[in-house]
Amino acid sequence: MLECYFRLSKFIPTFCVKTVYDIDYIKLYERGKRIILTDLDNTLIPYDASSPDEKLKKLFEYIHSIGFEIIIVSNNHKKRVSSFASEIGCQYISFAMKPFTKGYKKALKRTKHKKEKQEVIAIGDQLLTDILAASKLKIDSILVNPIKHKGEKWYTRLNLRREKKILKRIKKQYPDRYKEIEENHEC
Ligand SMILES: [Mg+2]
Repeated sequence: MLECYFRLSKFIPTFCVKTVYDIDYIKLYERGKRIILTDLDNTLIPYDASSPDEKLKKLFEYIHSIGFEIIIVSNNHKKRVSSFASEIGCQYISFAMKPFTKGYKKALKRTKHKKEKQEVIAIGDQLLTDILAASKLKIDSILVNPIKHKGEKWYTRLNLRREKKILKRIKKQYPDRYKEIEENHEC
């Protein structure tokens, strides 16, 4: 079990917000971030959607206009991830196998920017995949609240059950950080 092999602190995100619309991208840029590695399902769109809506397209345009490079790094299959990425106009890595770091590493190889880890931020809705993979690579991360749980794959449901156990331990050992997570994330 992942939660036994890794230190609890590896599951704790650097920042927590409710949605990708609540991130202060200007501030991130000012802090030196240049590359965003974002999850797809339940972070950008729910499982039962396949295309970005106008609001999300505008957000991506805005993020690009600041000067960020965004790459979608998803555990989902190529067909779904590639069609979404082409509609929104950015690169992607499908079948990323997070919490393994392979997908994030592959994405970083494709970036035009230098690959300093301090320049990278990962965004995702799951502690056991998105956040753990980022921590393993020593990349900062932002946890968002999952858009919705309906239609999730069996392994995501399993991860959510395991996430609950991890959150209990975080609550005990890192009460301040837990409070921050709890305010933004369905615990
Ligand atoms: Mg997700």
